[in-house]
Amino acid sequence: MTNASEITVGGLVPMTTVDYPDALSAVVFCQGCPLRCRYCHNADLLPRRSTQTIAWQEVLALLESRRGLLDAVVFSGGEPTQQLGLADAIDTVRSMGFRIGLHTAGIYPKRLKRLLPLLDWVGLDIKAMPEDYPSLTGMAGSGDLAWESARLLEESGLPHELRTTLHPELIPPEEQPRLASAIQSLGEVHHVWQTCNSTHCLDMTLRHV
Ligand code: SF4
Repeated sequence: MTNASEITVGGLVPMTTVDYPDALSAVVFCQGCPLRCRYCHNADLLPRRSTQTIAWQEVLALLESRRGLLDAVVFSGGEPTQQLGLADAIDTVRSMGFRIGLHTAGIYPKRLKRLLPLLDWVGLDIKAMPEDYPSLTGMAGSGDLAWESARLLEESGLPHELRTTLHPELIPPEEQPRLASAIQSLGEVHHVWQTCNSTHCLDMTLRHV
């Protein structure tokens, strides 16, 4: 296992009510994501390296001061499963008494499978039908990987939420029923549609909705 100090943190929210269901949580934003989703509004978190990172010890100090006040810690991003130190970081945070949530695009299904036993809840993006991923994320094969992660998550029985962000240029309304049906065919999934925040999109040609 890689040491948690090798996790690269690009941001930290000390307390939220919206990132882990029915719990007060802190959110650790991991630096770096291999995707370039056209609607992404976390451009600062996409490069692997940044001059704005937060030391892991600083994150732990914040969490230490919040013991008893927070229920959970959510690892988000960027793409947290890109971080080789993630499992070790989760172990450390869990040993402090926090539940563990993960926000992921699911593009590393083998890593996700190894992480699942360490997690209490997962929010996984299902962005589109597998064949429509590359035009949205800029990465060939990303759809098959994300859908494989969704199948693993469903099989695990872990509490979760599958999320699809809607922008009419990326998923036209007439395509939504086919996507909804494909998602429901995964099994006992909890799926939500999210409205696209079309200000500050990575692709500035996407029209505002
Ligand atoms: S998965 Fe897409 S939306 Fe999420 S951080 Fe990466 S590029 Fe942005």
